[in-house]
Amino acid sequence: MDYQRILEDIYREIQPFAREGKPADYIPALARVDADRFGICLDTIDGGQYLLGDASERFSIQSITKVFSLAAALGLEGEALWSRVGREPSGTAFNSLIQLEVEHGIPRNPFINAGAIVVADVLMSHYERCDEAYLDFVRAISGNPTIGYNREVASSERATAYLNAAIANLLKYHGNLHGDIERVLNFYILQCSVEMSCCDLSRAFKPFADHRSPFRYGSTSLTSSQVKRINAIMQTCGFYDEAGEFSYLVGLPGKSGVGGGIAAVCPLKYSVAVWSPRLNGKGNSVMGMKALELLTTRTEESIF
Ligand code: GLN
Repeated sequence: MDYQRILEDIYREIQPFAREGKPADYIPALARVDADRFGICLDTIDGGQYLLGDASERFSIQSITKVFSLAAALGLEGEALWSRVGREPSGTAFNSLIQLEVEHGIPRNPFINAGAIVVADVLMSHYERCDEAYLDFVRAISGNPTIGYNREVASSERATAYLNAAIANLLKYHGNLHGDIERVLNFYILQCSVEMSCCDLSRAFKPFADHRSPFRYGSTSLTSSQVKRINAIMQTCGFYDEAGEFSYLVGLPGKSGVGGGIAAVCPLKYSVAVWSPRLNGKGNSVMGMKALELLTTRTEESIF
């Protein structure tokens, strides 16, 4: 498969969509990012790497972090994690409060904000120094020890995190947030502020594409079955109320973030990460979705 040529063709084909959508502006620091950046990186499980555009430029991974936090929490808690968070698609926006109230503080899944805030609480109950421990895991899985948080992005998000604060309060009310609300919220927001490039992300997702290799990074280890199940949750819940559409158009387990990144895996074939900051109304990258749709169409490789 000539992935490099396919990526170049895709880049040309998506140009008509280059002005569609707009970057997230509810996090002030994200609104300042150049909206016209585009990068993509694909790693095959046999060691090939193909990239294009701004693939080595770091950006705010935002909700893509939820895949790493789920992996870390599953490694620590195992099946017990599912008593605090579900694994059903929500069909609602990532920051919605509606189901959380009706369902008595048990978030639908770990990839909506409510679920990821519970996961942050779980991690804090295990880690002594959670900021460092989480970063150690992300650095280990991406093989890049220079990855870090962007504390400016985090504090800009924290200053306007009215919805996430409401979610955390509702969780606390229902007894599903054990730590201090303020500390858990800060840790969740810090996790979202991690900056990585498409190449870092593609590399970090490779273990999810290759469930046959042992998953052991830092202090986190997962069984092959746990890795496959994280993929299942990415497939059904990775794009909030657009998970069905992503499944229909792209056909890969993946996860998006409001920084404009999307990371996805084609099991036993490749991992891929794409970045373009302009988002559609559901908070997913317009060009990113388009590029992955064309990738699985051109390669005729998806999970279906
Ligand atoms: N930090 C963002 C938030 O909590 C992440 C949202 C996202 O990427 N979908 O709102």
